[in-house]
Amino acid sequence: MSNDSEYSAGNYDLHLHTIVSDAEITPSEILHCAEELNLKKISITDHDAVGAYFYFEYDLSVKAKEMGVAVIPGIELDSYYSGVEVHVLGYGIDVKNRELNDYLAEIHLLRRQRIAEQIEKINRFYKKEVIIKDEIFIPHRDTLMNPHLVHVLLRKGLFSEYREADRWMSENAKSSVVVPKPSTAQMIELVIKAGGQAFLAHPGYYILEHGLDIDKMMVELQPVGLTGLEAEYPYFQTGPKFQSREVEVEMINSLFQTARKYNLKTSRGSDAHRLDQMRAFQKLPTNDTN
Ligand SMILES: [Zn+2]
Ligand SMILES: [Zn+2]
Repeated sequence: MSNDSEYSAGNYDLHLHTIVSDAEITPSEILHCAEELNLKKISITDHDAVGAYFYFEYDLSVKAKEMGVAVIPGIELDSYYSGVEVHVLGYGIDVKNRELNDYLAEIHLLRRQRIAEQIEKINRFYKKEVIIKDEIFIPHRDTLMNPHLVHVLLRKGLFSEYREADRWMSENAKSSVVVPKPSTAQMIELVIKAGGQAFLAHPGYYILEHGLDIDKMMVELQPVGLTGLEAEYPYFQTGPKFQSREVEVEMINSLFQTARKYNLKTSRGSDAHRLDQMRAFQKLPTNDTN
């Protein structure tokens, strides 16, 4: 490994989603998979949510300890930088932090209102109950998101491609509910207030897909308190610009360089929403720059 970091050893996966946001898997399934993969450290980082750490009947960190897996309490916060949606990973946060939870409660409420309105519009368009509200608003699912609706549209055969369905929704099922778009700096500050360290999630997307200047970002965000970059990430085939392994490896290497240049930490995460994605990530050749 490039450094004996607390965040980026080869058997770490510090970017995982559960049913509390837009994945189908539970924290318990993640733990069992981590054990199977011999992972030493994981972090569950749901979109704008920390319910994975206290919704379930077991105490996640106690259960994890019994299984020999360390858990860093985490989150992935939506933010905006130069008009681009940028995700901020918070590690080592106090998941019960008042300010963080007040913010999340507000976001959850607005997202629920937004999705409810979108469901109504979709069903009105098709003149039938294409989307059943109770199947979307399920227990433990705190962060209601577009993918929840898109997946139903795809499963019902109304669209064949994710992007196509997503575009259709943005044109035909737009909601009037405004969910706040906090700046990346604000979300870094929120992570710090909750006692955590802020990392930029999958920076390769912002650089290659959106053309953001990573140096400019570092110069602006490091003084606010940005601690690190998610350098190791499975970019391959996740977007139009990442159609080859070479591009992925180049991006990862350049992110390690950027981290060194600004003396930032690096982290490693799969962004898995399913167990097969979690497994596939560990089978990748280690992207070691040394
Ligand atoms: Zn993300
Ligand atoms: Zn993610």
